[in-house]
Amino acid sequence: MSSQRVEGLPPVTVRAPAKINLHLGVGSPRPDGLHPLSTVYQAVGLYDDVTVVDAPDWSVELTEQVPGVPLDDDNIVIRAGRALVAHHDLDLAAAITIAKGIPVMGGMAGGSADAAATLLALDRLWDLQTTDEDLLRIAGTLGSDVPFALLGGTALGTGHGEQVEPVPDATSVWWVVVLSGEGLSTPAVYRHFDELSPDAPAEPPVPEGLIAALADGDVDEVGDLLANDLWPAARDLRPDLVDVEVALRSLSPSGVLLSGSGPTLLVLHDEVDDARATVAALAEQGMTCTIAPGPVAGAHVVTYV
Ligand code: ATP
Repeated sequence: MSSQRVEGLPPVTVRAPAKINLHLGVGSPRPDGLHPLSTVYQAVGLYDDVTVVDAPDWSVELTEQVPGVPLDDDNIVIRAGRALVAHHDLDLAAAITIAKGIPVMGGMAGGSADAAATLLALDRLWDLQTTDEDLLRIAGTLGSDVPFALLGGTALGTGHGEQVEPVPDATSVWWVVVLSGEGLSTPAVYRHFDELSPDAPAEPPVPEGLIAALADGDVDEVGDLLANDLWPAARDLRPDLVDVEVALRSLSPSGVLLSGSGPTLLVLHDEVDDARATVAALAEQGMTCTIAPGPVAGAHVVTYV
């Protein structure tokens, strides 16, 4: 292991997007405890910015305090940094600052976005020239959704979600993102899924119809084919989501979707004005919403002074 600290390196900032799952097919747990997935990811325009600067020790801070985000070695960005330097057999560290724009514990993979951003930012900071293949592989060791946060766009995810392959997507849509005041634990949702679905398949099928609809740019068909196997488990754990879903379906019968393991809910729109009208209608009912375009790019450098 070698220490190659270079004083005075300029900080690097990388922006990484939230993800949603247009289709989330979940199988029965594998011997390693992970769930086999067949999922269609889409990167959407809510972002975390991660800034890294070379430092003698690892540290993480937030630009604004957000409950539920650890500020110690439990933060996934520290695990990401350590994994990258271990891969290169280096003895380096960084001070990492996260500006969170992705809801925490919202089922939008904010932590995974931060991990992906950290890998890319540190690679650029120290000019490590890690290959894309190695970055994706290291990302997959950090979490199921991390490789997709590097890739962005729209992609099929298999394995436990870490094997990602871009799929053609001719749509350009606007998601109304219905935020929930309280987060939902992803492991708790998967545990309840197991209780509810003892006969889940070993390999959930690939949603060929949805993939064809995306390639055709057929937004109505995409709306009809959105699916999330975790919805029954999430709504059992959070019965309040049922009322929200009913309210959303009364505005838009198709195109309503739970984001990942929840509790964020989504409504698909082809036109941004329609998305704005939905936000206004939901605001009148006291709901907090934002609008996010999809698909958007994966993790990318935004500042490199
Ligand atoms: P998932 O990717 O499992 O769908 P999520 O989007 O619902 O997750 P995240 O915001 O990624 O939720 O947070 C999941 C957990 O990860 C939180 O309980 C938090 O304690 C932990 N965590 C670790 N590092 C981070 C980070 N940088 N940002 C957010 N959460 C983090």
